[in-house]
Amino acid sequence: MTLKQLSPHVWLFPFEKGENITQPNIGIITDGDHTILIDAGNGAPHAERIKTAVSEQGFAPVSQIIYTHNHWDHVFGAHCFDVPIIANQRTVPFLERQQTIPWGEPFLRDRWENIPRMRHQVMEMLTCAGDWSQFSIKMPTLVFDNQYDLTLPNVHLECRYVGGIHAIDSIVVEVKNEGVVFVADSYYPPPIYEQEPGEEELLDLDIIRDFLTPDADIYVDGHNKPFSTRQMQYLIRFQEMKQQSKGKDLREEIGECRV
Ligand SMILES: [Zn+2]
Repeated sequence: MTLKQLSPHVWLFPFEKGENITQPNIGIITDGDHTILIDAGNGAPHAERIKTAVSEQGFAPVSQIIYTHNHWDHVFGAHCFDVPIIANQRTVPFLERQQTIPWGEPFLRDRWENIPRMRHQVMEMLTCAGDWSQFSIKMPTLVFDNQYDLTLPNVHLECRYVGGIHAIDSIVVEVKNEGVVFVADSYYPPPIYEQEPGEEELLDLDIIRDFLTPDADIYVDGHNKPFSTRQMQYLIRFQEMKQQSKGKDLREEIGECRV
């Protein structure tokens, strides 16, 4: 896998989509002896590919990880790295719950049979997770409430809590002075297995407006190619128009008052 350079100290291990594969974008911040990952990958095979790419690029081994939120495809690779992990404090209870789950094929087969709405996720986990005997949920070693600033010799990262409908523990990470913001899944609709009817295309516009900044022009979300500011603004306008036209449909459906 070839890493993509986004700015002087920021690289991307790009997302991959495929049948039963959900592999998010992984940010790689490198500065001398430090290599920081933004998210840990969806399982051991992904984590090993990230490690290889980091070493082939000549970067220092991964020294820290930042979780953007608690979802499995962003945290299940973490057990392959023996390094400190930074996360929002709201991520902790979700991971504590995940630690009590007997992860492995028998558990997932059971989930497949008994919780139909989770079948897609189960298939993805089975495809991506690798060797369950080595698997564990890694807890953060440093947590923060609203904001945490991480300063390296030449790089300043600002981790900021945003919450939202996709995951209430979502954060965004802005690489100051390099014009890059990692926004992960923060503005997405809720995950499929939590969606109510009509929520599948619901984007959290307030979160997008919140993380847009004149200091950045590269926004890296969880599962797409990076967006420019212009593309993000287009996304807001497009979503607003869709919401307005839905309102119109509803009025047409209700019909005119007969009295
Ligand atoms: Zn997510």
